[in-house]
Order: sequence, then structure tokens, then C-alpha cells
Amino acid sequence: VGRNPGELEFHQAVREVLESIGPALGRHPEYAEARIIERICEPERQIIFRVPWEDDRGRVQINRGFRVEFNSALGPYKGGLRFHPSVYLGIVKFLGFEQIFKNALTGMPIGGGKGGSDFDPKGRSDREVMRFCQSFMTELYRHIGEYTDVPAGDIGVGGREIGYLFGQYKRITNRYESGVLTGKGLSYGGAQVRREATGYGTVFFTEEMLRADGDSLEGKRMVVSGSGNVAIYAIEKAQQLGGNVVACSDSSGYLVDEKGIDVELLKQLKEVRRSRISDYAAVRPEAQFVVGRNVWEVPCEIALPCATQNEIGASDATALVANGCTTVVEGANMPTTPEAVRIFTQAGVRFAPGKAANAGGVAASALEMQQNATRDSWTFDYSEQRLRQIMQDIHARCFDTAEEYDMPGNYVAAANIDGFRRVADAMLALGLI
Ligand code: NDP
Repeated sequence: VGRNPGELEFHQAVREVLESIGPALGRHPEYAEARIIERICEPERQIIFRVPWEDDRGRVQINRGFRVEFNSALGPYKGGLRFHPSVYLGIVKFLGFEQIFKNALTGMPIGGGKGGSDFDPKGRSDREVMRFCQSFMTELYRHIGEYTDVPAGDIGVGGREIGYLFGQYKRITNRYESGVLTGKGLSYGGAQVRREATGYGTVFFTEEMLRADGDSLEGKRMVVSGSGNVAIYAIEKAQQLGGNVVACSDSSGYLVDEKGIDVELLKQLKEVRRSRISDYAAVRPEAQFVVGRNVWEVPCEIALPCATQNEIGASDATALVANGCTTVVEGANMPTTPEAVRIFTQAGVRFAPGKAANAGGVAASALEMQQNATRDSWTFDYSEQRLRQIMQDIHARCFDTAEEYDMPGNYVAAANIDGFRRVADAMLALGLI
């Protein structure tokens, strides 16, 4: 804490990992000897830079850009960019740290990194977003590359932003280096199912968890928080697999539609019109938008937090348990506070951490890199099948590790232990670097 003052989310993420890997450290004294923990908590490199740009009224704006290249023991740094006014070093480091273990869990050759800016895309015109992205890339380009560091999207960074970022990278370097970014559009080197992957993957993981208990998604009442990229495709896949998603949200409130969220309407509003979910009720009068309240008060059996960090606090967890929630699967990164996780654990709620459950996004990014490297492009069905298999494998790995360490059902500890072991073993093999 003294070494990284004020980086609250980073402290939280590190504490969560360190609290659960004790049993693995006990079995592997070589990790302590090589001071793997101290090394793994220190980013290999962190870059902070000025992003000047001009708004539509001709005024100069200045934002701060970040890229934290955390660990490259398993492969090039890989992780998204977040554009949100709350972004500061503590958030980028928490996300980068989580990313190391998540990427390791996928079993794919990718290291961990994360970046972003305190730029707020809300209310900005297309042109402003483009100018911002161009300025951001004008610095970032010198730090990234197919073999070095491969950014993708996250909150506030979707297909549009990746397009502008890639365009500027191409222009500055004069290289059509498709593998430098993932989440690209299909017309310029993107891969099928990348857009859907995090949400779909979260639901595939949920399906596996239920299956392990002889249960299924069929007929389950579900609530998904957020209404962005992850939430939309979690809703879509949950409904395809028989779940009934009755509510979703954004930072202004939540939307309930007892007949089930109309995901095509949601896509239209969010992806095409770039409007808000409050407009949904204007089209579907039977739905209700509840201003300023938290979606976790809506009763459900399965909750998928897909918005942002620390969005389920102790009181939300208590309400979810009281309303009969039996399963919580994190589509977002660290959406559940440590107190809320304790409440779920004590109540016997099945709980899956984002590190395992939302790894489908980065896994599909690794598949995009694979296609870029071989100049190939796979069909939607084949890509989805690959994603589903990867999520099943991650689930099986967590399930088995929990058994191996005598804590069946503890997906949190199992994901941390499995991810940590993979990275630690590679770091040992590579020597003191
Ligand atoms: P988007 O920007 O597409 O959507 C974010 C959604 O969350 C919006 O509905 C937004 O509402 C809501 N939200 C954001 N911040 C807050 C807040 N402080 N309070 C309440 N609601 C908020 O982002 P993504 O869907 O891509 O990301 C969602 C989560 O999933 C993040 O935790 C991200 O790190 C994680 N994730 C994303 C991956 C990806 O592939 N995109 C991969 C793995 C994890 P509003 O519009 O009102 O701000």
C-alpha cells in the first residue's frame, strides 16, 4: 500500500489474489524463493501521457492517457483500453493485474496489460471521438505492436473507437499490421464473435456452473447490469439458452421488462442510435425505467453484473440473497466488493469471478490474433464453437483446481491459483527478468 499510495482498486485486486493463493504457495516454496509475488505485483512498464485534442467548438482539451504493461511472461501484453472519466492509475493497474491471471486461465499465449484515458465519450460527437482517438494513438503507437502489446476495447471503447485507433496507427506507421489491435471491424481484419464474446462467454460459463450441479438456464429469471457491449450479448445468449432476462441498467437507473428484455430493441438503441435505455420504455410501454436506483433490488435467480467495478456492495448482496438469488457470475471486472462476496459465500450462492467468467472476450481476441497472423477468417459458427469450448475448459480447470485444493465450488480461489501457477512457472523458467 505504501509503495502505491491511493491506488485503491489496485490494492483491492491484489489483496483478493494474495488472500487465496496461500495453499499454492505452501506447495511451491520455489515461488517465494524467487520472490514471484513481489515481482508479479510490479508492472514491467507503465506509460502515462498527455492527450491534447480539439473539440467541435475549437477549444483545446487535455486528457491523460495510460498503458500499463504488466506481465509478458506468457506472451505479448494483452488487455483493453477504457475511456471513462473515472480512469486513473489505480483503475488501470487493477485491470492490468487481473488481466495477467485471466489471460493465463485461457491457456493462450498472451501476457497482461491494460490502458485507457479519463476522456468521457458521453455527449461527444463522432468527430470529437475521432480526434481524441487519433491523438491518443499518436503517442500509444510507439509502445504497441503484434509482438509487443495488443490493446482491445473496454468501457467506452467499442468498434468505432478501435476503428479510429487502428486508422491512425496504420497512417503513422505505414503498416497494415492487423495484429496490433483486436476488436476490429469485420471489414478491416476483425474476427467473427469478438463483439459478442465477453457476454456470450459469461453465459457459457454460467451454463457450465449450473450443469456441474445438475441444473440449467432453462426458465431462470435473470438480471444483467449494464447495457453496454458485455451486457447486451450476455442478455442475447442467456435468452437463446432459455433464460428470462427481466432487467438491465446503466449509470442513471434500471429497466425492467417482465416479458423479457427485447435485445434487438436494446441493440438498436445502444449500438445504432447511441441513445440510453431510458428510451426503451417509450417503445415498449409495458416496460419501466426506474431512475437512480440499483438494479439489484429486482428479484432474480441468476445475477450477471456486467457494468463496472464494485457495483454490488454488501446491501445489494443482502437484497439479492433475500430475494432468492442462487447464482452470481461476473461479466464485468471486479463488480462485487469483498464484503458482498463474503455474503454470497455464507449464503451458499454459487459465485464465479470475472477472471474466469469474462475471459471469453480476451480469448476471442487471441483467436482474432491467430486469424490475423495466418491471414485467415473463420465463420461465425466455428468461432462461437471455439469460444464455447474455451469457456468449458476454463470452467473445468477451475472446477478441478478447487477439488485439488480441497475447496470444492470455490471458483474464486481456484481461478486465482490456476492463473497464478501458470504465470509463476513461466516467470521461473525465464529467469530473473
Ligand atoms: P461499455 O462501455 O460497452 O458498457 C458499460 C456499461 O456499464 C454501460 O451500460 C454503462 O452505463 C455501465 N456503467 C459504466 N460505469 C458505470 C458506473 N460507474 N455505474 C453504473 N453503470 C456504469 O463497456 P463493456 O460492456 O465493454 O464493459 C463492461 C464491463 O465488462 C467492464 O467491467 C469491463 O472491464 C468488463 N469487460 C469487458 C470486456 C469487453 O470485451 N468489452 C472483456 C472483459 C471484461 P453508462 O452508459 O450510463 O455509463
